[in-house]
Amino acid sequence: MSLRLYNTLSKNKELFKPIDSNSIKIYACGPTLYDNPHIGNFRPIIVFDILFRLLKKLYGEKSILYARNITDIDDKIITRANELKISTNELVKKTEKVYKKNLNSLSILQPTYEPKATEYISKMIEMISSLIEKGYAYVSSDHVLFETKKFESYGKLSNLSLKDIINGARVEVAEYKKNPEDFILWKPSKDNEPYWSSPWGNGRPGWHIECSAMTSELLGPTIDIHAGGLDLIFPHHENEIAQSTCYHECSMANYWLHNGFINFHGEKMSKSLGNITIVNDLLSKFDPTVIKYSILTTHYRQPIDFSDELILYSQNIIEKWRGFIKNTNSSDLDEVFVNALNDDLNTPSALMRLQQIFNELKKNPDNLTLISHFNNGLQILGLIPNFEEKELNLDKEYIENMIFRRQKAKENKDFDLADKIREDLQMEGILLEDNKSGTTWKKI
Ligand SMILES: [Zn+2]
Repeated sequence: MSLRLYNTLSKNKELFKPIDSNSIKIYACGPTLYDNPHIGNFRPIIVFDILFRLLKKLYGEKSILYARNITDIDDKIITRANELKISTNELVKKTEKVYKKNLNSLSILQPTYEPKATEYISKMIEMISSLIEKGYAYVSSDHVLFETKKFESYGKLSNLSLKDIINGARVEVAEYKKNPEDFILWKPSKDNEPYWSSPWGNGRPGWHIECSAMTSELLGPTIDIHAGGLDLIFPHHENEIAQSTCYHECSMANYWLHNGFINFHGEKMSKSLGNITIVNDLLSKFDPTVIKYSILTTHYRQPIDFSDELILYSQNIIEKWRGFIKNTNSSDLDEVFVNALNDDLNTPSALMRLQQIFNELKKNPDNLTLISHFNNGLQILGLIPNFEEKELNLDKEYIENMIFRRQKAKENKDFDLADKIREDLQMEGILLEDNKSGTTWKKI
């Protein structure tokens, strides 16, 4: 085995050496369910799904434990739920449905664990208590903060010095902080916000502690690979490392993998630029395999320029390949193809190799080796469509409830909210029709 991965911690491509090759542990930071996922949220999911598939091939189907979390409590979720005048639970339920539907359409494998942050609050409280006891964290005005300077290796992952971090901290430092660079482990909830009781009063955890708690509970103190988007290196992963290392007194993960951003015509994806591409929208226009192919044409650490041209280019290739995509009983893989993936998941090279195999296969359509090399290659890249795609089990009660809320919004002359509810349902494949006797719905 010669899998090499670029480790953000060492800034080097390293030979992957698992702690225990019978039980390889990976954790990837998943999405925050405050809105329907956009393609940027899905890049790490697609890329690390390929890593999961590759490791299964290299080390055995049952040797990989993969956890990908769902953040179901967060400031963004609270703000969005308030805007929509629904509870945070309802918002999460609604976005989770769309997220799961997208995962299914894009044939993403089910990870071993898919934990939700709110299910691990007691573990977070235990970790925070321990960090206070050990002197790494302090309580101040109902908040608990991690005292960053107490952790010597802080900044190692992001290559930032404490001075850089202090300079980068907001000019206006919250009163409850001893030092500007300290970060929140627990904070009080305002009125009407969700809360959990804790030794420090009713409140909720900071975002970073959730991943430390879930990693620890599900996979143990030190795992093999921790992954996520480039934007998570600082502060999210830096803070996770600080908390977990001080709590467990050992390192958190041996390899840190980060994927690059998705650009639209050269600009960093950002909601304020209005160039977000919602996965649901993309899936209503393009074949899921085409969307995935587009993502894989660029190496995962590089930025992708997502454009109509890229989609059309990918569509053209998938159209040509389609007649040759089939299930095969053989597990035989092409060596050059595997070597490309073993080289820090070099998917552009792997796709190039598949194209060469395809060119041969076209000339020799009955050649069993070529059939299995082509299809098993597609399989590892997750490019074989999910033939067993299940019909999304839409909750009738939920739709009726949304119709009721829309009616209430109209009565209150909140037409923006009413329109938003109609649009959101439409995104989920439900069309509302207003008539004299009220509103009815049907699946699109
Ligand atoms: Zn995380």
